[in-house]
Amino acid sequence: MFQPVGSRISFPELEMKVLKFWKENNIFEKSIEIRKTAPKFIFYEGPPTANGNPGIHHVLSRVFKDVIPRYKTMKGYCVPRKAGWDTHGLPVELEVEKMLGFSGKTQIENYGIDKFNALCRESVFKYVKQWDSLTERIGFWLDIEHPYVTLDNSYIESCWWALKQMWEKNLIYQGYKVTPHCPRCGTSLSSHEVALGYKDDTVDPSVYIKFRIAKLPKDVIDDNPDKFSLRRAVEEGKAYFLAWTTTPWTLPGNTALALASDAEYAVVEDNGTYLIFALSLKNQIGLGDRPVLRTYSGDKLAGSLYFPLYNPHDFNVERRRVREGTQGVFDIQKPDSGLLYRVINADFVSMEDGTGIVHIAPAFGEVDFVAGIENNLDFVQQVDLAGNITGTYPFSGKFVKAADADVIQDLESRGLVYKSEQITHTYPFCWRCDSPLVYYAKKTWYIKTSAKKEEMIAGNRQINWYPAHIKEGRFGDWLQNNVDWAFSRERYWGTPLNIWQCENCGQYECIGGIEELKKKEGLEGYMDGMDLHRPFIDQVAFNCKKCGSTMFRQPEVIDCWFDSGSMPFAQWHYPFENVDKFKESFPADYISEAVDQTRGWFYSLHAISTLVFEQPCYKNVICLGHILDAQGEKMSKTKGNVIDPWTVLDSYGADALRWYMFTATPPGNVRRMSPAMVAEAMKNFMMTLWNTYSFFVIYANIDNFTPDNRSINPVSDLDKWLLSSLNRLISEVDDLLNNYDPTTAGRKIENFVNDLSNWYVRRSRRRFWKSQNDDDKISAYHTLYHTLVTLSKVCAPFIPFLAEDIYQNLVRSIDKNAPESVHLVEFPQFDHNLIDEDIMTATELAMKVCSMGRAARSKSSVKVRQPLSSVVVKTRSSFEQGLLRRLSSQIMDELNVKNIEFSAGDLKENKHFSVVVEGDYQVGIVTTITEELFNEGLAREIVRRLQTMRRSAGLEIADHVVTYYMGDKLIDSVMEKYAGYIMQETLSTTLLKGGGDDGAYSEKFKISGIELRLAIKKER
Ligand SMILES: [Zn+2]
Ligand SMILES: [Zn+2]
Repeated sequence: MFQPVGSRISFPELEMKVLKFWKENNIFEKSIEIRKTAPKFIFYEGPPTANGNPGIHHVLSRVFKDVIPRYKTMKGYCVPRKAGWDTHGLPVELEVEKMLGFSGKTQIENYGIDKFNALCRESVFKYVKQWDSLTERIGFWLDIEHPYVTLDNSYIESCWWALKQMWEKNLIYQGYKVTPHCPRCGTSLSSHEVALGYKDDTVDPSVYIKFRIAKLPKDVIDDNPDKFSLRRAVEEGKAYFLAWTTTPWTLPGNTALALASDAEYAVVEDNGTYLIFALSLKNQIGLGDRPVLRTYSGDKLAGSLYFPLYNPHDFNVERRRVREGTQGVFDIQKPDSGLLYRVINADFVSMEDGTGIVHIAPAFGEVDFVAGIENNLDFVQQVDLAGNITGTYPFSGKFVKAADADVIQDLESRGLVYKSEQITHTYPFCWRCDSPLVYYAKKTWYIKTSAKKEEMIAGNRQINWYPAHIKEGRFGDWLQNNVDWAFSRERYWGTPLNIWQCENCGQYECIGGIEELKKKEGLEGYMDGMDLHRPFIDQVAFNCKKCGSTMFRQPEVIDCWFDSGSMPFAQWHYPFENVDKFKESFPADYISEAVDQTRGWFYSLHAISTLVFEQPCYKNVICLGHILDAQGEKMSKTKGNVIDPWTVLDSYGADALRWYMFTATPPGNVRRMSPAMVAEAMKNFMMTLWNTYSFFVIYANIDNFTPDNRSINPVSDLDKWLLSSLNRLISEVDDLLNNYDPTTAGRKIENFVNDLSNWYVRRSRRRFWKSQNDDDKISAYHTLYHTLVTLSKVCAPFIPFLAEDIYQNLVRSIDKNAPESVHLVEFPQFDHNLIDEDIMTATELAMKVCSMGRAARSKSSVKVRQPLSSVVVKTRSSFEQGLLRRLSSQIMDELNVKNIEFSAGDLKENKHFSVVVEGDYQVGIVTTITEELFNEGLAREIVRRLQTMRRSAGLEIADHVVTYYMGDKLIDSVMEKYAGYIMQETLSTTLLKGGGDDGAYSEKFKISGIELRLAIKKER
């Protein structure tokens, strides 16, 4: 006997029992242990940070991380799954700052870096319990007992080692460059971090500024000075270059204007002043109706001088210039009250928007910086690292974005604004704190990834991306446009940068490990076992090899993406320990994260691996799309549309959530999600499977069915069809999972389960119901049993809980020698001999014909239970006819008709013949109801009423009853004529005319206008 399986089920309750079973019997550990000597399948866990509660998107990636390793385990691989925690970096610092109410770095330093970092260390495990319990609850098998943690000294040491490898390959340098800088966090961001924070709906000023011309080059000639003279206009102070900007706060830093040398520039009068701009942009600027007084090509105007908008010396700001031949040495320029700036030519001047004249502020833009070096321009940096304007401008002390309006107003009052509007455009914001980024020239440490660009691109060719378009698309593009990785952060909580510099001669040294550090001459501030974090490591100093002076550590910490990208080796403390473990687990066979990681973890893994090991470190990636709410809106706390994973888990269970995640949308697509959608997945798939399983167990227990080990030898076409479909399913799911496509695999399973329930079980109901245990019944039991057991194995990677429950009941409860868990068995192998293409095509056709036949019946409003005389079918070919003939009894039974005919010609509908056409197929039903058919229909209606009454009276399925009936003569004759049929279908031992005695359960009915009273009483 199997454990009883009722039709009502709470999946969350069932799952709690399964979790307990797994835990008590160490099933996960055993799934690795039993494969100890098997080939390894390597999975890398992308480490989350546990300083916040895990969300629904974490469930998405975690179930995709789970399904493939479970499958590979069943395919005979050993799949270790080491958990990991990402513990460093800005996100962590920001949370602590928020908690302390800090708004900048000064407060942190006053508070004390040691205390601040201690809080960071605490905070990263604040939600570790929630993470662990969610991980367990969703059935994500992961070794959470032995995680790698990026803040461990051992992990840090491995990162140091990797950086040293790059240092020795000359791939690390310090550059004076314009970097995207977060003024709030006070640090540079790498380009992949910038890519995470673009907002395309940023409203900014769009201002056209007038730069008054002081002097024109000699070769600017007035052709017809009587009509108009630009030279005269300049002398009178009425001539201006017109430039456009969306960042007015950079204007005090303007030190040049750039024109395209080959473009034509027009002079146009506006309110008594003369404006110069690109002729082709005249309409766009809003001066389309003004006559052009003169035109000059851009190369002629280069060399013109103009008055600075703000002479920096008047506002107590330095004017600096890069020393020739250097990139990072600045000379401070003497005050100059007659300062004039120069017009240059540049090839980056756009003729798409603006005025064709670009305002250059070398301290603030990457292009501007390069133009500044190339043209020996002045650098005026009137903004500090917190993003505030310095000096004594009217708007000094303000944050850059807040100063915009003041700058415009100030220039407007001086008549230097031609036009001021607002535009909506794309602007980068800090991905962590949401502050607008400022492009800022400063010193930063770089990894020269661009030197290994070709190697990274070549390595990417070996990686299989799912979906495939990521390879050449999002990820490929990212590699194609690779820029060096700005990896130093002027922050506190991170892997400290392992570069020391001599205070005297400026010599740098990179330290690649603790032992190396300990061997340094004159070592100070180091203690064995000390915490390698700031501020302690800041005290460690040693002698310079070159001059004997003292070397101090560079103050920065390392980008936390460097940490997570180092996990392939740092998780093992390689190369200081576990050399074998690293080697056998490198590269990974499989990783999975959301698509934004193409610029995050996917990239940092790939870059570090290429630079250090000269090969990629992962082979297959499932790249997941983002989750939106049911309306297609982004989920956010402010909108209140965030789905709490626990609510869904408590209502529908982990399997339903997993199933939804796997099958609703291909992994790479954006997906919509709501609890109702998960409920739907539960109802459509989980409940269908459950009901089939429940049906089997109820009848098997009634009939005392015990499976034996004999090989399955199906007798009926239904059984042959089911086993054939099952074997095809096994082979398809196997192939699909092997190709990292759980979505299509899951959908195949879902279709199969639907056919199993809606065709096989429905068509076989009577085979299980009948009282004699003949070959047909036994074959049905064996077929359904075998199918459910196999299905539990095929489904196990997807819905590990229900699969386990089915397996335990159907297999383990009767065979104690069977493997302890469905997750310890082998994935089923398909039997080619059982795949019968003919029977599958035939059944598919029969299903189609039946669905058309049902439509024809309902078209003429004939109830399904009313038997009819015949169905006429027209197919595409005589071959198809032959296939259908083989299944004609199934079709007749399903459509409740006495006869099936085939027609070569078209079917013509009439009053007694209802026809449905679909493509080349036609199905017609003869709808004439003879007296005999009517009576038979009445018998069927009576059976259905009695079956419902059995349930209402609380009878068990196998209980026998005495049935009583009261009605007119017609009822009497129907009860007599169809007595055998009625008794068999309702398990009645006798049919008695009359009202029944006291203990009987009775109901009154009216069927097709005929009144009757039925009563049943359980047989003792
Ligand atoms: Zn920030
Ligand atoms: Zn030195």
